[in-house]
Amino acid sequence: MTKSFINNLKKLLRNKRNITIFPHKNPDGDAIGSCLALNHFLKKLGHNSNVISPNDYPDFLNWMPGIKNVLRYSSNKIFCEKLINESDVVFTLDFNSLKRVEIIGDLIKKSKSTIVMIDHHENPEDFSKLTYSDPKIASTCEMTYNVLEKIKVDEIDWKIASCLYTGIITDTGSFKFPSTSSRTHLIVSKLLEKGINHTEIHQNIYDNFKKSRISLLSVTLSNLKILNPINTVYMTLTQKELKDNNFKKGDTEGFVNYGLSIKGVLLSIILIENSKEKIIKMSFRSKGDFDVNILARDYFNGGGHSNASGGVSYKNMDETIKYLISILNKFSNKLK
Ligand code: 5GP
Ligand code: MN
Repeated sequence: MTKSFINNLKKLLRNKRNITIFPHKNPDGDAIGSCLALNHFLKKLGHNSNVISPNDYPDFLNWMPGIKNVLRYSSNKIFCEKLINESDVVFTLDFNSLKRVEIIGDLIKKSKSTIVMIDHHENPEDFSKLTYSDPKIASTCEMTYNVLEKIKVDEIDWKIASCLYTGIITDTGSFKFPSTSSRTHLIVSKLLEKGINHTEIHQNIYDNFKKSRISLLSVTLSNLKILNPINTVYMTLTQKELKDNNFKKGDTEGFVNYGLSIKGVLLSIILIENSKEKIIKMSFRSKGDFDVNILARDYFNGGGHSNASGGVSYKNMDETIKYLISILNKFSNKLK
């Protein structure tokens, strides 16, 4: 974080502001965690602040402090547009490309607001006035802690700490991914001192599923294919399989990681059909040096981080798999 970023942000927040905070579409624990934490904090400083999510958040985040007040643009367009138009400040958290909020991107650009980006993805776009972008940091929640600490550390209470902890554990795979640093652990230690119940948070996130989600996992794992020569695993879920197992947003979160649990596998991919949007949503995970951000960015209209990324295909499932395998064969020397 640069000195000018934090100084300008402090200056911006010196007077009472109308503020809207945005996570990316299909928000995850890090996106919602950072937005809620910042929202609680800004309200405590006396600002008029709201979180607007482009669409629904997953059920496994339903327990989070303040989540019930998150507005959904997809189901409340007129009110959300009014808030955006009346904003003085817009925060974009956990994304760095306006494509990731779709139509909202145009509304943000058109509004008179000062845009503040806090994000840890590669290749940031140039749309924000104040920018804190660092792909080396494991989560946007960790970055948000850094910002709040510099503004007024005493205002970080257990609610804010619980929201930040959620994003830190979901984006680090519970401290497993290489981006986890000593600073990550130091921050978590400070969050524990704020009185968070870390066991309850883990249970809320990871031990709170319906049986249908486990059935869906079972279908996913039975569809798992190994591409032996290139140490790659891919899994598929069709719309019918989702429907048969009563799929709800968030149910497939984490499925892709099972591929990496097989010895020797360096790359795991899940392909999920979405007939309504006529896309195949893809998630990529890798171990070691294989950069899945490049794979998602250059071939699947997406992006992310070097060990975790996502993208989309506009072909059908069979065609997507054929295309995927042809692309992976180009990378075969990197998957050995
Ligand atoms: P997931 O596979 O869990 O959806 O996402 C993994 C990482 O890739 C996250 O950091 C997420 O923000 C990013 N990501 C997922 N889908 C997309 C996408 O369509 N476009 C871009 N640019 N990033 C994505
Ligand atoms: Mn994130």
